[in-house]
Amino acid sequence: MSLSDIQNSIKAEEKQAGRAQGSTKLIAVSKVQPDERVKAVLDQGHRIFGENRVQEAAAKWPSFKAQYDDVELHLLGPLQTNKTRQAMELFDYIHTLDRLKLAKRIATMRDELGQCPKLFIQVNTGREEQKAGIMPEDADAFVAECRALHLPVIGLMCIPPVDEDPSAHFSLLRDLAERNDLPELSMGMSGDYPAAIAQGATCVRIGSAIFGERVPPKA
Ligand SMILES: *Cc1c(COP(=O)(O)O)cnc(C)c1O
Repeated sequence: MSLSDIQNSIKAEEKQAGRAQGSTKLIAVSKVQPDERVKAVLDQGHRIFGENRVQEAAAKWPSFKAQYDDVELHLLGPLQTNKTRQAMELFDYIHTLDRLKLAKRIATMRDELGQCPKLFIQVNTGREEQKAGIMPEDADAFVAECRALHLPVIGLMCIPPVDEDPSAHFSLLRDLAERNDLPELSMGMSGDYPAAIAQGATCVRIGSAIFGERVPPKA
């Protein structure tokens, strides 16, 4: 697949779901990809990218941002509290707000920096022990706590368990977002974005289907 194949496929899925054209944002997930592949996608005009690790993004994006205007960066991986400031300076969106300690840290840094990325709360819809995210039954209370801190929470994010039908997870996330008046849904990856768009995803996070398989980093 290529970038334009994915863009066309997203349009077809939107149409099939009876949704407005362009209502799904495509985040190209460039983690661990060699620079020349990322550059190729930038050269095709795409500007919205996702990364999993603050360190890796800090090493590669400042120079891309110097060469290309209007780059929009999304943090998709877990955020350690001690990297909050660096993440907030680098990213326009953080998809992995998942605990009160981090919410408080982001609020403190927001006051210090005078700016704040837009935020998604990650929900552990599959209740998996090894996965980050707040439990679905704690979502309403956590949204309220973030609002009390005046954080710019715009939506919810999930990563369904690999061995389950993702649609049930996507629809659970949509219900949680709707009842909390959150307009954005970050859900769907290379393997399941059609189901996510059918369930109302406003952001899909697609890596390998655009860039090819991830090349493991050299030791
Ligand atoms: C890696 C990753 C993606 C993209 O995965 P692909 O299967 O390559 O599309 C999306 N979301 C998150 C949180 C990821 O870590």
